[in-house]
Amino acid sequence: MKRREFLKMIAFMTGSAIVSGCDALESGDERILVVGAGIAGLAAAKTLQNWGYEVIVLEARDRAGGRIWTSRQWANSPLDMGASWIHGITKNPIAELAKEHNIQTKETDYENQWIYKQDGREFSASDYETLAEYSRLLQGTMGEAIEGYDEDVSIQTVLNEILASEEVSTADKRMILYLLNTVIEHEYAADIADLSVFSLDEGKEFGGEDVIFPDGYDQIVKVLADGLDIRLQEVVQQINYGDDGVTITTDWDVYEGDRAVITLPLGVLQSGRVQFSPALPNEKQNAIHDLGMGLLDKVYLRFPEIFWPETPDLLGYVSQNKGEWAEWLNIAHYTGDPILLGFNAAAFARTVETWSDQQIVDSAMAALRTMFGQDVPAPLAYQITRWAADPFALGSYSYQPPGTDGETMAALAAPVAGRLFFAGEATSRAYQATVHGAYLSGLRAAEELWDTD
Ligand SMILES: Cc1cc2nc3c(=O)[nH]c(=O)nc-3n(C[C@H](O)[C@H](O)[C@H](O)COP(=O)(O)OP(=O)(O)OC[C@H]3O[C@@H](n4cnc5c(N)ncnc54)[C@H](O)[C@@H]3O)c2cc1C
Repeated sequence: MKRREFLKMIAFMTGSAIVSGCDALESGDERILVVGAGIAGLAAAKTLQNWGYEVIVLEARDRAGGRIWTSRQWANSPLDMGASWIHGITKNPIAELAKEHNIQTKETDYENQWIYKQDGREFSASDYETLAEYSRLLQGTMGEAIEGYDEDVSIQTVLNEILASEEVSTADKRMILYLLNTVIEHEYAADIADLSVFSLDEGKEFGGEDVIFPDGYDQIVKVLADGLDIRLQEVVQQINYGDDGVTITTDWDVYEGDRAVITLPLGVLQSGRVQFSPALPNEKQNAIHDLGMGLLDKVYLRFPEIFWPETPDLLGYVSQNKGEWAEWLNIAHYTGDPILLGFNAAAFARTVETWSDQQIVDSAMAALRTMFGQDVPAPLAYQITRWAADPFALGSYSYQPPGTDGETMAALAAPVAGRLFFAGEATSRAYQATVHGAYLSGLRAAEELWDTD
């Protein structure tokens, strides 16, 4: 058995593609440039370095982690501004990393959610029952659309058909929109009008519960970044590739390598801010253009005391207009700190990003005061994300608009000319838009690179 096959086998047997440095190949003289120190870039870099390549990671920000970003601005209250959860811990490589490094996690029980109506009244038992019925109806109808439609359409189109065929009161319609917003728009970061119904059936999931990191997701980043040569604040502008290798120009320097792993977020690829020469193949350019970059933003509010119920994991708000402060994570439930995390996604999030901080806080407080009374105190502090405006993300995570599918993502992932290898959440056909998907895509790109040696 060839040495590298042996290493791969060990990696497979130990459940990790990352083999310890002492087992490294003696390939040595090949230099690989990795663009982006998010989880995909770190996974690829760590793997390739452990296999014996010389690896340099080029990262535009002043930190590693990308869309995993723990703010430590508030003493003793680390807050995740990007990813929060490991979605499904059973055999999930991120959960395995957490376990291996004794990183504490806490389960989220999505059922443990208290929901409030537009006028502030808490849901009654019959409201919860109605919501559950609509949830079943929507699941059934979306399932029938996936099975029965010849052509892909948006989820909004399917919803319009339901609303045309059923007598639905205004209050019930609000409930349906609440469900579609919190269950679909928040998960896919896209408006139901922009989201493919067929995409609901794409991809896979790990089983088991979802967990958060009370002490921050960046602990996972630290584990992977340790020992890597990461050049921070190097904004890649130009990537040239050809028979002689790869030349990458940043705003500071020029790097020469034999091959490169590109983990730029879809939003950055779409923006054209990084130029490729020769231009990327048409199929890849079409995939970059056709896939969607979605938006999910967060607002953390810290209060003088906890004025909301401490028991639920989540608080829901069936707002008058779809998606306005519809979902809150009760941080107090996990850490005891008087902090609430409000999410907004898709169209509402795009509107919110245009507001000033004060307007955002006022709007969020109006919702909380409807839910919990006008006496609710003003927050002592806040932290707000604007992922669409972030120049090194230009959105939160990718989604599939109608007419795109797993093949579109495969085109985005495909290597180019034996020189460029692509990773990142948008290239993960099985686990798009997740940390574990991005991580696994980094391992896949490392394997592809190795296999084309
Ligand atoms: C608000 C939010 C909530 C989320 N919640 C979850 C969750 O709970 N669970 C989950 O599994 N996933 C979640 N996700 C998705 C998850 O964070 C991403 O799928 C994952 O982190 C993406 O990793 P990546 O390596 O593909 O991309 P990134 O982390 O974006 O890494 C790409 C890197 O490239 C760098 N870069 C960009 N441009 C340049 C340039 N020109 N030159 C050099 N470097 C550049 C970036 O700075 C970045 O570090 C969430 C994302 C967001 C934004």
